[in-house]
Amino acid sequence: MKYEVAIVGCGPAGIFAALTLVEHGIERIILFDQGGDLEKRRRNDPRDVLCGWGGAGAYSDGKLNLSTEVGGYLSEFLSVNDLRELLRMTDSIFVRHGAPDRIFGDVPASVEEIDDQASMAGLEFIPTMIRHIGTENCQLVLNNIRKFLEGKVEVCTGCQVHSLLEENREIRGVKLADGRIIESNFVITAPGRVGANWMKGEAESLGLKMAVSPVDIGVRVELPATILKKITDVTYEPKLIFYSKTFDDKVRTFCMNPYGEVVTEETDGIVTVNGHSYAERKSENSNFAILVSSNFTEPFRDPIAYGRYIARLANLLGGGAIIQRLGDLLAGRRSTQDRIDHCLTTPTLKTATPGDLSFVFPYRHLQSIIEMLQALDKLAPGVFSRHTLLYGVEVKFYSNRIEVSRDMETKVKNLFAVGDGAGITRGLLQASASGMIAARAIVSRIK
Ligand SMILES: Cc1cc2nc3c(=O)[nH]c(=O)nc-3n(C[C@H](O)[C@H](O)[C@H](O)COP(=O)(O)OP(=O)(O)OC[C@H]3O[C@@H](n4cnc5c(N)ncnc54)[C@H](O)[C@@H]3O)c2cc1C
Repeated sequence: MKYEVAIVGCGPAGIFAALTLVEHGIERIILFDQGGDLEKRRRNDPRDVLCGWGGAGAYSDGKLNLSTEVGGYLSEFLSVNDLRELLRMTDSIFVRHGAPDRIFGDVPASVEEIDDQASMAGLEFIPTMIRHIGTENCQLVLNNIRKFLEGKVEVCTGCQVHSLLEENREIRGVKLADGRIIESNFVITAPGRVGANWMKGEAESLGLKMAVSPVDIGVRVELPATILKKITDVTYEPKLIFYSKTFDDKVRTFCMNPYGEVVTEETDGIVTVNGHSYAERKSENSNFAILVSSNFTEPFRDPIAYGRYIARLANLLGGGAIIQRLGDLLAGRRSTQDRIDHCLTTPTLKTATPGDLSFVFPYRHLQSIIEMLQALDKLAPGVFSRHTLLYGVEVKFYSNRIEVSRDMETKVKNLFAVGDGAGITRGLLQASASGMIAARAIVSRIK
């Protein structure tokens, strides 16, 4: 049978595209994901963490960032007001399917106070409003959506899409890894970060233009939650930017998880670190990433390869992720299990190997990370402690940004590219919203 719309990827972008199509009465929709269905996914299997129903969103922290400047580049496609409206609408769909009511960062006086203190510490503070779903509730919300879509769309989990089929610059469907051809009038690709390499390969073979973005490389920092409590109680996730003194590189905090846990994830056989937190289950620690942006122009133009190289080096030395106390890093020695055991911060990730991150990071990155930690210590005393834990490496592969129209359509007619995998977004809410934009465009063409 010929489908109306085929969607590659069941992460938030693909799911919200499907929800929008269904809402407008579109039939014959098929979704593919190389990973398993929600109940078959196992959190402790690094491949399952990113793939399957819910995509990377399933075990994410579930922070829905309502600010238009954060989480992607949709502000380049829509006016600020339209984007704000779209994000609100996307957010309300999450709430309809079970996301909690509370929003952080909506008390102006407390936010202003943090802003003032950040300025004095040499940090730029970006105020954001956040709804925190929490990891366990992400499962609930995604399950509710899955049930809602039951019988309205066809969902093929454990199905990898091998390639996109095009004829005379118009999409015809997709070819699956098992050789089956699926014909479809429209295709929405939403393969996420885990599928960024696949997307890049397909874009190259279809002759689609791509822009190279910086790669963000850094560490996940873990410390007692009390150190950041005053800030995280108000904002949940403070977005802080710093320009390093030595290199003038842009360094930023990312994905703060109060009372959360550090986790590993695996992309194409490379293990990196990340973090999340539950709505109810609390650890004693908070974690966040410090990322350094690196850009390349000539002759090297492959930031993904650079990020992978650094992550692979950490894997080579540590057999996976590496953990080090800040005190050991500053003293020029590796962390050992014994040193980690008597560290005042108890690591929430037990599988990281105690080691030496100075063997992994270029001097430029390490210096920028240390300077950022010093600046953060002025805002939240205790951050630059010997007992602060650093996990390496965290890499954000946002790199290749596919050229798309305001409708998220590529230069191949009826082929749409959305979400993190197309380099257009970097977070749950904008990824979901980008799927909705593509779906709306398809609806208007069909009707
Ligand atoms: C641990 C963690 C915590 C996070 N916390 C937050 C947070 O608090 N707030 C926030 O805004 N963001 C967070 N994120 C990021 C957020 O999860 C992503 O931005 C979001 O999921 C992107 O949605 P997406 O639909 O574009 O891609 P994804 O969610 O990555 O989904 C893509 C899907 O496509 C599938 N796929 C890829 N290629 C193929 C193929 N060829 N064939 C078939 N299927 C394919 C994959 O298996 C995957 O399931 C977090 C991410 C992680 C990993």
